Amino acid sequence: MPALPISSPVAVVGAGTMGSGIAMVAAAAGHTVLLYDVREAAARAARDLITGQLDRWIAKGRISGDDRDRFLQRIVPCDAIADLASAGLAIEAVVEDLGIKLRVFDALEAILGDDSFLATNTSSLSITAIAAGLRRPGRLIGMHFFNPVPVMALVEIVSGLETDPEIAQRAFDTAAAWGKSPVHVRSTPGFLVNRVARPFYGEALRIIAERGAEPATIDAVMREAGGFRMGPFELMDMIGHDVNYTVTCSIFDAYYEDPRYRPSLIQKELVEAGFLGRKTMRGFFDHFEGAERPVPAKAEPVAAPTAVVIEGDLGPAEGLAQAIEKSPLPSRREQTDGDSRIVVDGAVLKLTDGRTATERAADEGTDDLVLFDLALDFEAARRIAVALPDQGTQKAADAACGLLQALGLAVSVIDDVPGLLVMRTVAMLANEGADAVLAGIADAAGVDTAMEKGVNYPMGPLAWGDRIGAARVLNVLDNLARTYGEDRYRASALLRRRAAA
Ligand code: NAD
Repeated sequence: MPALPISSPVAVVGAGTMGSGIAMVAAAAGHTVLLYDVREAAARAARDLITGQLDRWIAKGRISGDDRDRFLQRIVPCDAIADLASAGLAIEAVVEDLGIKLRVFDALEAILGDDSFLATNTSSLSITAIAAGLRRPGRLIGMHFFNPVPVMALVEIVSGLETDPEIAQRAFDTAAAWGKSPVHVRSTPGFLVNRVARPFYGEALRIIAERGAEPATIDAVMREAGGFRMGPFELMDMIGHDVNYTVTCSIFDAYYEDPRYRPSLIQKELVEAGFLGRKTMRGFFDHFEGAERPVPAKAEPVAAPTAVVIEGDLGPAEGLAQAIEKSPLPSRREQTDGDSRIVVDGAVLKLTDGRTATERAADEGTDDLVLFDLALDFEAARRIAVALPDQGTQKAADAACGLLQALGLAVSVIDDVPGLLVMRTVAMLANEGADAVLAGIADAAGVDTAMEKGVNYPMGPLAWGDRIGAARVLNVLDNLARTYGEDRYRASALLRRRAAA
């Protein structure tokens, strides 16, 4: 079945934040949109909101006044659900309540033609459970749009147990025809993005719980080394801790208290205090007018080293070796039989492998060890996190900082956190993505597209894991699992299989 023809009207039920965005996108694609809300004035108010957005586009020269008028003619506020009868697709975007959604679908099934199909924009209810209440469960599909709908490209096309594969494909093709990036997903708690994204928040919360680094420092490292658009704490402050904490709790409960998704007591306390983030002006950071942002930890400038030896191939940190070789620093390459490393007078620098610096220094009998974190692209990075063993010396810290600063990097010396910040987070994201593929929730390309388009990650976690190397990611996770002695860090069977291949 091809995409819904443009001549076919789209009904949108619920004209709140999501419904009005979906109406805008469907109308932009050329459909007549029949917009209905139980609150009398809501559909008209949504149309006024869309008018305001279109006026801003006119001001920017993106569309003409005539374009706006044609666009607005296609959005038809409706006073009764019976007015939606001509729709070929009805998308439900009402409040997140199973009973209310079932009543909406009951009314829709009574009036829509047999060849129409039904979609729900639910973000947390099971598509299978909603479909079970329908006369024809096979024609219900999840079309999970992201907020703000006109901006966010991802649409999770979520199939329940009984969803007809032809309907799933039709919804997929329709979303694609609307200019979106759809991904097929099987209905499971959190669907794809909300589940795979959990470690982005969870690891950061865990690290502050262990007082490994401050939120502002973690955010800066995740942005300036990890390449993420926002750090986890500023992002949680933006999403709202009530929302973010509730999503984590619901996924934790739904997966029978799998420790991978365990909620954070620190975040719970913020919710209890009413510090919900930007919307209440306080969260991890203050958001009052004129509030000062805490400054990320940054080492004081020290002298550059006089000689640098790069031993072996640094693997995912080869970009750092190349940055050294391109810099004016005197450097040379040497082969090594052991771990690859960078040696400067006073310090030996190694990429984190998930062990603490203290454990690794003891294993290797070197006190001048300095571990550094992963970066998305070492040549583009502006900051790097490093950690020293408990018995580490100022001389080693200075030598490492001198080298990294000479390459233009701000250096954040953090506590001896196993796996540091970016490596540990990316390893956990790749692991979560691998488990989603293993369970058939999405395919690998779908996981990567979803995380790039749904939460703006700089790279899909599976492609990133492949770039690091499956064996290395597995090693990081196994070391974390051993260090913490917790099932939270258990590696996916799929990752193990790939690492062994
Ligand atoms: P919202 O509160 O902004 O809008 C919901 C609208 O539904 C309201 O205008 C309300 O009057 C209307 N409504 C309630 N009962 C109705 C009924 N019986 N018939 C018709 N209209 C009814 O909520 P929202 O944020 O737009 O969320 C809507 C859905 O989208 C929820 O299922 C939510 O989980 C999901 N979702 C939300 C987001 C988000 O970021 N806000 C993202 C993805 C999915």
